Amino acid sequence: MTGHDGSVGPLQLLLPHPATGELFASPVPPGSGWPGDVADADTPVARTAVQVRRLAAGTGLDELEARVSVCAACPRLVAWREQVAREKRASYADEPYWGRPIAGWGAPDPRVLVVGLAPAAHGGNRTGRVFTGDRSGDWLFAGLHRVGLATQATSTHAADGLRLVDTRMVATVRCAPPLNKPTTQERDTCAPWLDAELRQVADSVRVVVALGSYGWAAALGAFGRIGWEVPRPRPKFGHGASASLDGPHPITLLGCYHPSQQNTFTGRLTEPMLDEVLGRAADAARIPR
Ligand code: SF4
Repeated sequence: MTGHDGSVGPLQLLLPHPATGELFASPVPPGSGWPGDVADADTPVARTAVQVRRLAAGTGLDELEARVSVCAACPRLVAWREQVAREKRASYADEPYWGRPIAGWGAPDPRVLVVGLAPAAHGGNRTGRVFTGDRSGDWLFAGLHRVGLATQATSTHAADGLRLVDTRMVATVRCAPPLNKPTTQERDTCAPWLDAELRQVADSVRVVVALGSYGWAAALGAFGRIGWEVPRPRPKFGHGASASLDGPHPITLLGCYHPSQQNTFTGRLTEPMLDEVLGRAADAARIPR
């Protein structure tokens, strides 16, 4: 069997996609028909930080998504995402796992941009779509649906029919990291993908919802790098905190506790708290609800 990087690997078990029934290896080879996969066997693969910078520059949003989805620049994360994809969690043992980086997803011209940390090993790394198929996503999509930013409240796999309304979601680091903790070097290696995506969508964005202090810092850093004026000293993250980013038009940055189980189980983040921030985002972006 040919691997996603063109190498010939050991015979892999093919398993049916839970929605389409089509058979896939884990990790999923680009261009093999996975719902939403925009890459193919010819999509260039970044294998170093320098190559990430080169491949992230000067390309359109579709090609950017494709290039992100085959990136292999962080050896530790490549090994981890593929190991998780092969070994799987027992409850998903009968499913293929995406096992590749997770591109941004949603409207190509969003008014609201949601910035998270990184995909979950058995969530996005399994389903191939950001926040899809894990408990954090269950919370987030339900909240987005309640305030009119998503067409349905659940998000189970990449062919579930869900659409975001004038909204896009991105992870700061595009591969699932062990213990949900990317290293500083991995964050920096991945940053050009985020910067390039923000350049593509910033014209339409009016509100950025940063999930957790990691998303907050990443959003401030990325908008600063692409030429927007960010407040100095850097505003502190908090749930409901806001800051103004100045560029060709103002963008409101809103802080929201990350809907991780650690926060939702302990009551640190409740549904009303989530709805309050997401509702402010929808209102500030003038999206009717
Ligand atoms: S974390 Fe980012 S830069 Fe590193 S391999 Fe994944 S997509 Fe590439």
